[in-house]
Amino acid sequence: MQLVPALLPSLIKAINHAIETHAEEVTALDQAIGDGDHVTNLQRGIKALTAQSEELAQLEWAAAWKKIGMTMMTAVGGASGSLYGTLFIAMSKAAHERPLDLQAFAEIFSSGVDAVKQRGKADAGEKTMLDVLIPVAMSLDHAATDCVALPVAFEDVARTAIAGMESTRDMLATKGRASFLEERSRGHIDAGAKTSQLMICALVAVLAEHLTAPT
Ligand code: ADP
Ligand code: MG
Repeated sequence: MQLVPALLPSLIKAINHAIETHAEEVTALDQAIGDGDHVTNLQRGIKALTAQSEELAQLEWAAAWKKIGMTMMTAVGGASGSLYGTLFIAMSKAAHERPLDLQAFAEIFSSGVDAVKQRGKADAGEKTMLDVLIPVAMSLDHAATDCVALPVAFEDVARTAIAGMESTRDMLATKGRASFLEERSRGHIDAGAKTSQLMICALVAVLAEHLTAPT
């Protein structure tokens, strides 16, 4: 399977649906250990992407990721806006001419996640979106290295994202607003980890369906 930007409108639609369905739950998470604005921040970005989706579908990946990153950066706001924006802009910089297969995507996504780590001065275990993004990058890397069949790779990615999201519950927050709560940050899932997981699971569900759809 080749990933093509023509898939972007259906990917954006699936993300929109997943975030909308879980909006109240995510708001409650961000209210517990943040300021409660994470979902509305993100939905502003998704709305802007939805308006651009037909245009994005016509671009090459590098240009599409750049545009997505700039839109996230300007429309989302908050800590997550600059971090999600950084992810896509770094992916755009890492993109190359080769067709986008699993191997290429794994490399590009890893570069994006490294840029988020640098931008947020954060790493795994600090109760942020990185506790989903880092293990997902590793899962993609393993799948590419071991030539895992795509349906299995997608299942692994979804399972890894869910486990990463759940792992934030008992962590102590050391970055972002939640870190102000110190020990009281334990016992709540991080909102950014939850939205990263929801978006990743929505993406792989669309891609898995696309694999089995008659062409
Ligand atoms: P704000 O915290 O400015 O209100 P949001 O509510 O939109 O922004 O986003 C909060 C999310 O951003 C957190 O749940 C966390 O996942 C993520 N986050 C915050 N700071 C960092 C950081 N330094 N590195 C990685 N992710 C971070
Ligand atoms: Mg917030």
